[in-house]
Amino acid sequence: MASKVFSHLVQLGVMKPIGDPSLDSGQADEEGVFPSFTAGPIRMVKIGFGTGFLSVPIFMKLFRRLDKSRARYCDGCSRLQSEIKYGSIDDWAAAKLPLHGDWMWQVLVFPTKLDEECGHRSEYCSDCLRKHIEAKMEEQGRDVVGRLTCPSAICRRVLRYEEIKLYADEAVMKRYEKKHQLWFTPGLRYEVPKLKSHGSFRIMHPPGPWLN
Ligand SMILES: [Zn+2]
Ligand SMILES: [Zn+2]
Repeated sequence: MASKVFSHLVQLGVMKPIGDPSLDSGQADEEGVFPSFTAGPIRMVKIGFGTGFLSVPIFMKLFRRLDKSRARYCDGCSRLQSEIKYGSIDDWAAAKLPLHGDWMWQVLVFPTKLDEECGHRSEYCSDCLRKHIEAKMEEQGRDVVGRLTCPSAICRRVLRYEEIKLYADEAVMKRYEKKHQLWFTPGLRYEVPKLKSHGSFRIMHPPGPWLN
């Protein structure tokens, strides 16, 4: 599966093939030794293929990156970072076929999906967004449900469940889901008398994301 994903991305021109000259500096180190190939950081992502999902290692250093002139600065970690050279959002969304899942958004340096929803460019990288989500969960406990916002000071839009799932760590998301379930169990709801014409209906307390 990993090799299938790899050759798919190489074919699309998003990844470099192993042996690409840019992966080898051609330079001996300070002691005159030529460094052997190192895989670099590996991201495990869940990739859908057919009806199932598999965990697949992605060699991050094989991605082609944008030039330094197009690098983006993150206000959170104060790093200038270069995004994967994926073309347009539509190209990237189409590129993943026949593989599916959120992994293609998760490997990006900046939270492109968030940018799209918010309508502004995020000042924070995906890594800092992940940390922001985790910190808010620690800070707010159960109250975080339906109140987790975009970290940008000019925005503060409440994030949708799917966005949190896209950018949170798996373990953090499991904790969030527990809080989420807890909120929406019948014992935590209360009944309110409703408009005469509509009889009575249930609302959640606190309001779920869809009621905001
Ligand atoms: Zn950052
Ligand atoms: Zn925003």
